[in-house]
Amino acid sequence: MRKYVIMGVQGSGKGTQAGMLAADLDLVHIAVGDIFRWNVQHHTKLGAQVRRTMAAGLLVSDDLVQGVVSERLSQHDWNYGFIIDGFPRNERQAEFFLESYDIDGVIHLELPDSEVRRRVLARRLCSGCGMDYNLIASSPRVPGQCDACGAALVAREDDTEEALAVRLREYHEKTNPVLAIFGRKEYVATIDARPGREQIQQEIRTRLGLPPYRPAGEAA
Ligand code: AMP
Repeated sequence: MRKYVIMGVQGSGKGTQAGMLAADLDLVHIAVGDIFRWNVQHHTKLGAQVRRTMAAGLLVSDDLVQGVVSERLSQHDWNYGFIIDGFPRNERQAEFFLESYDIDGVIHLELPDSEVRRRVLARRLCSGCGMDYNLIASSPRVPGQCDACGAALVAREDDTEEALAVRLREYHEKTNPVLAIFGRKEYVATIDARPGREQIQQEIRTRLGLPPYRPAGEAA
C-alpha cells in the first residue's frame, strides 16, 4: 500500500505525473479539482456551491474540500494505495489530512511563475472525456478536437490571466506553508518540473525508491 501526495504550482504537471504513476502502480488518482469540475459540469449542488469561487481562482472552503476528500477516501477502492493531487492546499487541510492518514511521500513539482503563465494559458481540456492538452507541448492531432473522443477542446474557466494571478497568490501564501509542515514530518521530494514528462516521471521514481518508469508498449 502506497500513499502519496503530489503538490506543485498550477501547470506544473501534477495531473499528468500523478496519472502516470497511478496507472503503473495501480494507485487511485484523486484529483480534488477534477471532482469539483465534474460537479460544476453536471450541475450538482456541490457544483453550484464551488463554481464562482473556482472561476475566480480562489480556494474553496475547507469544510467542503475536506468533505469531498473524506467521502472519496472512504470508498476504500484503493487496495494498492492512492495519490492525491490538489490537496492539501493550506495548513488547516494539511493538519486534517495528517490526523487521518500516514503518507509515504510528498512529490513537490517545482516551476518558476514565468513558466506557469506560459503553460497554463496554453492548456486545453476535452469537454467530453476530460483529457488534458497543451497547445505548446501536447497539441491534438486535429486542432480544437480531442484525439480520444473527438469532442471539442475548451479552456478551463479559471485558466485566464486574472484568475491565474489570484491562484498563484493563493498558492504562494497558503500552499507553500503546507510544504513546510510536510517537510517536518514526511519525506518531500522536490523535483524540477521543466524537463519532459518521462524524465520527470523517472526522477519521481528514483527519489521515491520505486521501480523505474517504462514507457507504454515497452516490454517488462
Ligand atoms: P486545480 O484543478 O487543482 O487547479 O483546482 C481548481 C480549483 O478547485 C482551485 O483553484 C480551487 O478553487 C478548487 N480547489 C481544488 N482543490 C482545492 C483545495 N484543496 N482547497 C481549496 N480549493 C480547492
